[in-house]
Amino acid sequence: MQPRLLPTALACLLAASLPLAAVSAQQRPEVVEAARTLQSKVIEWRRDIHQHPELGNRETRTAALVAAHLRSLGLEPRTGIATTGVTAVLKGGRPGPRIALRADMDALPVTERVDLPFASKATATFRGETVGVMHACGHDAHVAILMGVAEALVAMRDELPGEVLFIFQPAEEGAPEGEAGGAEEMLAQGVFADFRPDAVFGLHVSSSLNAGRIAVRPGPLMAASDAFEITVKGRQTHGSRPWNGVDPVVAAADLVSTAQTIVSRRTDITRLPVVLTFGAVKGGIRHNIIPDQVELIGTIRTFDDDMRQAVLDDLRNVAGHVAAAHGATVEARIPIDHNYPVTVNDPALAARMRPSLEQAVGEGNVLDPGLITGAEDFSFFAREVPGLFFFVGATPRGVDPANAASNHSPEFFLDEEALDVGLRAMLQVSLDYLHGGEG
Ligand SMILES: [Zn+2]
Ligand SMILES: [Zn+2]
Repeated sequence: MQPRLLPTALACLLAASLPLAAVSAQQRPEVVEAARTLQSKVIEWRRDIHQHPELGNRETRTAALVAAHLRSLGLEPRTGIATTGVTAVLKGGRPGPRIALRADMDALPVTERVDLPFASKATATFRGETVGVMHACGHDAHVAILMGVAEALVAMRDELPGEVLFIFQPAEEGAPEGEAGGAEEMLAQGVFADFRPDAVFGLHVSSSLNAGRIAVRPGPLMAASDAFEITVKGRQTHGSRPWNGVDPVVAAADLVSTAQTIVSRRTDITRLPVVLTFGAVKGGIRHNIIPDQVELIGTIRTFDDDMRQAVLDDLRNVAGHVAAAHGATVEARIPIDHNYPVTVNDPALAARMRPSLEQAVGEGNVLDPGLITGAEDFSFFAREVPGLFFFVGATPRGVDPANAASNHSPEFFLDEEALDVGLRAMLQVSLDYLHGGEG
C-alpha cells in the first residue's frame, strides 16, 4: 500500500463528481484533551487484548471486555449479535445526525514472533489443527481505539448533537467453515434496521504506512473478493493409454492458461484493475494414473460491480468451454457463497471528512493509498449507507514500510502511536460530522 498518484483519467472522473472543497476543520480542544486523558487506558486495553487474541466468532473474552466497558460508561450494550458482536447507542443531549463507528475484534491463526512483554501465547483449534493465535491484523488496536472514542463521546454527551452507534464486529477475517459471521451477518441480524445511520466510519491500522500518517481515497478503496472452486471431471484411466479415458489434468492446465486471458484480453484494465489467481490445483495420486478429476480453487479481485459480474461470467464461460474442448465437464462454484463487495468511500463524505483527518496528522501526512487489492467486510456497512474507511500508519517512524512485516505476518508490529492517531482521527471525524455546519 505505497502512496502513489491516481491514474489521470480516474482522478478527473472522481474530481468531477466531488463537491467543492469542504470547510476546513478546526482542531477541537476536546479531542486533544480526550487523547491526553485516554491515551494510557487505550494502550492498556490494546495490550490486554493483544495478549488474549481470539479467532473469528470466538471473541468471547474480547466481547465481554467491550460490553463491560460500555456498561461502565452508562450505555446499554446489545451482545451476542452475529455470535459475539456488541453494539451500543449513545444518544447525545441535542438533536443531530446519526453515525455508526465500527471496529473489528477477531485475530488470526498466526503464531506471534514479536518480542513483546504482552506477546500472544494463545492457541486455538482452526480447521481441526492446533494453531497459534495473534492479532496479526491489528484488530486489537481497532477495539481499543473505539473503546476510547466511546468513553470520550460519553463524557461529552450533554453537548453532543445526534446519536452514535458503536459496532464491535466479530469475524472480519471470515467465520469458521459452516458458520455465518462478520459485518454481513450483523446486518442480517438487524444492526442497521434498528438504527439507520447517516454515515458509517471505520479505520484499519496498516504496516504500509508510517505512524503519524493516514491514507484515504474517495471512491473504490479495497477490492471485492470472490473465491471460486472448479472441479474438472474426466474419466480415469492408465497413464500409458490416455485415449481410453478423458484427461482432466490437461483440461485443467488449459483452463488455468485460458483463464489468464480474461484479465489480459477481455477486461478494460485502463479503467480499473482486476486480479484472477488460482491458489491450488489438486488431482491425481500416481505417475501412471490419469485421475478422474482435478480441483482448482482461486480468488478474483475487482473494484466495480459491472466488471466483477463480467469476470465471473467469463470464468464460467472459460471453465465450461475449455473443459468441453477436451471432452471433460466441470462442476463450478463461481463464486463460492461468501464474497466481500468492493469497499467504496462515498466521494462526498470523503471530501467532507478529509480536513478532519488532516487535523489528526497534518495536511501533508494524509496520503492516497491507491487501489488496494485486499478486501474488507466494512464494505457491507458502506453498501447500506455512505461510508468512510481510512488507514492509520502502524510502522515506526524511520522504518521504511516497504521493509516492515505486513499485516497478517507473525512479525507484524504496531507502533502504539497508531492508537493515539486513530483515537484523535476517529473522534475528530465523529465530532465534525455530528456538529455538521456548526464547525
Ligand atoms: Zn486482516
Ligand atoms: Zn484486518
